[in-house]
Parts: sequence; structure tokens; C-alpha cells
Amino acid sequence: MPSQPGDGRLYIDGAFVPAASGRTEAVEEKATGKRIGGYALGGAADIDRAVAAARAAQPGWAALSAPERAAHLRRFGGYLEDHYDELVEQSMRETGGVRAKAEDEVGTSIRQLALSAVQVSEHAGDILPPYKAGKLSLSRAVPLGVLGLITPWNYPMNLAMRAVAPGLAFGNTVVLKPAELTPVIGGQALAAAADHAGLPPGVFNVVTGGGREAGWPLARHPGLDMLDFTGSREVGLAISRAAAGELRDIRLELGGSNAFVVLDDADVQLAASCAMIASLEFQGQTCISASRHIVVRSVADAYLDAVTRRAAALTVGDPFDPTTVLGPLISTAQVDRVHRAIVEPSLAMGARLLTGGTHDGLFYRPTVLADVTPAMPAFREEIFGPVIPVTVVDTEAEAIALTNGLPMLMNSVFTRDLIRGYGVAEQLQAGEVHVNDAHARHGAENQMPGFTRRQWIGLQRTPLNLPAWAAAPATEES
Ligand code: NAD
Repeated sequence: MPSQPGDGRLYIDGAFVPAASGRTEAVEEKATGKRIGGYALGGAADIDRAVAAARAAQPGWAALSAPERAAHLRRFGGYLEDHYDELVEQSMRETGGVRAKAEDEVGTSIRQLALSAVQVSEHAGDILPPYKAGKLSLSRAVPLGVLGLITPWNYPMNLAMRAVAPGLAFGNTVVLKPAELTPVIGGQALAAAADHAGLPPGVFNVVTGGGREAGWPLARHPGLDMLDFTGSREVGLAISRAAAGELRDIRLELGGSNAFVVLDDADVQLAASCAMIASLEFQGQTCISASRHIVVRSVADAYLDAVTRRAAALTVGDPFDPTTVLGPLISTAQVDRVHRAIVEPSLAMGARLLTGGTHDGLFYRPTVLADVTPAMPAFREEIFGPVIPVTVVDTEAEAIALTNGLPMLMNSVFTRDLIRGYGVAEQLQAGEVHVNDAHARHGAENQMPGFTRRQWIGLQRTPLNLPAWAAAPATEES
């Protein structure tokens, strides 16, 4: 991105600087493999400098009034709005997502900044009931201090922003380590925005680099007040083990094996359209993608037929082609994971391939697998690819029991009876459940949990704003 002053450099203490290693790495467009820029290979020494800068800046930043910090956030968001088209295209190139996905990513980031700029003036604290007459008890919102953020490549800008915006708004300073596959849209672009917004030096810092080289030193850094990590369970587990031994404060947003449950009274055509979004949007590379489809036997054949027709009709290709629905997977490692670690072994264990199951480089055909059993990797693993594995059960109770057996973030339930759907949703152990809908179409994604546990249930009577590509192909009678 030519207008980014951070191209190939870190952003520490208000300055764009090379990494201590002096090394850079190429940023690639995923659909073409073309080099589109560079990022600095930061390491432990850069993380030390960034944390020290954030520490030094934090008291002054927290001492600003709420309206002053809010004004900085609005200018930060203003830069993103001014460069909206450029940022959307940068996201398309770096993540391989289609335009609608990239617009969602950049748009959500802008809205998050606007929201946090308002919230900081609304949540200063509470007056509490006094335990004795004549006393006044107050609770005051105080910043944690210095936040470390480690983020993934799938929605790099808004998954950073959901912590950056509220973190900064409430007086914290931040050191961000974006994913190495998306260092510009997930990091350098935000550094450019913060710089243009005139944030005081050290308030927001970006150190790009590898997970082991830059991520691990940040995750273990004794100078942080909290580490916020979004990514895989494997890395989350390693961070949590290390933090437990040192009593450090961490927040983990990890993956899971989300379930899409179709009951015997479901509108099968609606469920199949929503399945396209739940499992295939952004090539299935979303933490809330449906990774298992659990379908009651009486509707299973109709459901398999409906999802197979839809999946087989979708266009896979360059995200800049407006007819493309599925772009490339993020990397060859991800293709290998989907194909060699999940699809091939599941077929070898007896799953039936109804469509897809092949790829051309990073471009993986939408795939439907029937006869999937709970022992197969297609059922047990988080797939993170465009695969719909269908497992048949006999009863609602069996569907609930099977769904609850694995870690998950989000479920969907399909039934024509909303009250029945609500009852099933209450029994599922996911943080978010949608009845008659695909994932996260209710805006709940912006409400990051605080210190209480909450479950969001979304009930949808009719499919709102369903994109045309998720509907049945024109030839199908429905
Ligand atoms: P990942 O864990 O490989 O990488 C995430 C981040 O951690 C990257 O910035 C990476 O550089 C860094 N990292 C890697 N190894 C590290 C280490 N040893 N120490 C410190 N940092 C390290 O995950 P990914 O492949 O980028 O993302 C996919 C995963 O993220 C999926 O499991 C998905 O479900 C999950 N995810 C969760 C959410 C959520 O909100 N719960 C959102 C998006 C993605």
C-alpha cells in the first residue's frame, strides 16, 4: 500500500523504525502470489522497546479526559474512512477474501472506534448501595495499563480493533503483534492511522514478525498488564500454561468445532442456504464457521441434496472477479491441513464425497462429505476450510448430546418452531446460538464479554439480507 508510511517498518514510540534484526519479509497477494509490500521481522528486542514505550506513555494517556481520548479515536476512525477503498482492497489482497468480506472487516473496525469513543464517556463507574447509612460507595473504571495484543490473519483489522479501540478509549496503551500473513491490514495500516490521528508517542505500537520470534516474547513479557490473544487453541494453550506459572493476566479467544444442527421440522432449503454462509463464507476460515452439520435422519437426504447443489454451483477464483464467491485459502499450509489432515483421512475412514474434494493451488473447491461419523477428523477438528461434513442422528436429544461433546464458539439450530429452537439453544454450550440463521448476523460480535459469562441467542423468523449467492441455483426447484 504506497500511502502507508509503515511499509516494511515497525511503529514504536510514535516513529516508523526498522526491526532490530534489520530484516524484512515479503507481503504476498494470496490469489496471485505477487509481492505487494514488505514487513519488518521484529523480535524480542523490538518487543522490549515497544512495551517500554507503552509503559512510559500510559500515565499521560490515562490522564487525558475521556472526551480528549474520544477525539483521538474519532480521528483514528476518520483516517480509516478516508482510506476505506484502499484498505478494503488491501484486505482482499492479503486475506484472499471477497469484497463484501473486506468491507465488513474495515467497516466493523470503523464502527468499533466510533462505539468506543462514545462508551468511554458512559462507563466511568457506578454509585453502589452503601452498606451503612451515611456512607457513599463508588466504583471507578480504571485502565489496566499496558495491553499486549496478538491477532490472527482471518479478520486481521477488526479482530485487532475490537481490543485496540476499547483498550485505548479507557486509558490503556497497546503493543500489537499482527499475524505474519496479514501484517499490513492487521498492523501497518493501523499504525498509519494512529500516526495520522496524532496519538501521543508510545500509546499505540505495532511490532510485526513471526509467532515464535515476536509473538512469544510479547506473550511472556513481564511489562504487560494484560495479554489479549486471538488465534489457535494450540498457541492459546501454550500461552495459558506459561501465564499460569507466572500469575499473569491473559484473555484468550480461540477456535472450536462449531455445529450446525438441522432438526426434523426444519425448512431444509433455508438451512441449506444458511449452510453456505456458515461453512463457506471466506472459504470457511472463520472462528465461528460451522465445522460439523448434525442432521436428523428424516430430512438428511433432502439436506444433502440441497447443500450439494448449492456448493457445486459456487464460483472459486480471484476475489477481485465480482462473480467469485470463494477466493484462495490463506496458505499452502492451510490447504494441506484441510486436504491431507481432514478430508483425505475422513474419506479413508468411510465418508462419502458428494462434491469438491479437490484444489488448484490455494483454490479449494467447496466440499460436501456425507456419512461422517464422530470418530472422523472432519467431525472432531476445527476445519478452517470450505467443507460441509454431514453427520446423521435419529433424535433431537442425540443432536444436542453430539453437539455438546466438543469445544465450540457458535451453533445454529434449524426448526420451524421458534420455541423449540429456543429450548435447544438453551441446552447448547456455545457462547452464541442462532435459530434459523447462519453465524453472527445479529451484531453480537461487537459485544466482547467482560468479566461475566453471557450467551447470545438470535432468533430469525425470515432470512434477512441473505446474499444472492447463498440461495438455490436458478435451475433448482425449491
Ligand atoms: P495462530 O495461533 O497460528 O496465530 C495467531 C497469532 O499468534 C499470530 O499473530 C501468530 O503469529 C501468533 N503466534 C503463533 N505462534 C505463537 C507463539 N508460539 N507465541 C505467541 N504468538 C504466536 O492462529 P491463526 O492460524 O492465525 O488463526 C486461526 C485460529 O484462530 C483458528 O483456530 C481460529 O478459530 C482462531 N480464531 C479465533 C477467533 C475468536 O474470536 N475466537 C477469531 C479468529 C480466529
